[in-house]
Amino acid sequence: MPHRNREGHRKRSLAVFPGSFDPITNGHLDIISRGLSVFDQVTIAILVNPEKHPLFTVEERVALIRESYRGNDRVKVDTFSGLLVDYAERVGAAVIVRGLRAISDFEYEFQMALMNRRLNPRIETVFMMPAESYSYLSSRLVKEVFQLGGPVRDLVPPVVERRLRDKYGAAPPSPPPPRRRARARRT
Ligand code: ADP
Repeated sequence: MPHRNREGHRKRSLAVFPGSFDPITNGHLDIISRGLSVFDQVTIAILVNPEKHPLFTVEERVALIRESYRGNDRVKVDTFSGLLVDYAERVGAAVIVRGLRAISDFEYEFQMALMNRRLNPRIETVFMMPAESYSYLSSRLVKEVFQLGGPVRDLVPPVVERRLRDKYGAAPPSPPPPRRRARARRT
């Protein structure tokens, strides 16, 4: 049954998708579109963490996400610091969405979800699995591959690829294939 407010209007369901998004990848996009199939609105919430040394500033990450979702009013972008459950409560979200790529994500995510439940039992954590083709994808790997000259076109939205080029300059060309050694002249 949809929740209704006092005036009898259906309340829009809102989920928060928190993370670093440094930068946003197609794996994130996959989880967001799955979130949108269940919730009316998804707010991408970038954690402001001064101890991390991100490649993109918070403002740049917000801009990249806005650009990736231009014209989609069901996806919002915001930043937060402090406890995630406090942020979720403040914006009226009853659900936190997280992506689960592999078993390796599970233990940390499980701990976080239970801690968040202890901090605020009114907020549920929902895990979503990406398409298998994104199950190995992470922002860290995208940055490493790009820095080493590998293609990231199918791994990130086009605007992110462009901004990676701006940041690093054009990616270094892949090393040329090994040349056959010239035969020594016999004469
Ligand atoms: P964090 O530092 O919080 O892990 P990330 O930006 O790396 O921030 O990830 C944010 C969320 O997106 C996490 O729930 C993470 O598991 C999920 N996520 C990241 N990459 C993928 C992917 N390729 N497929 C599914 N979920 C992903």
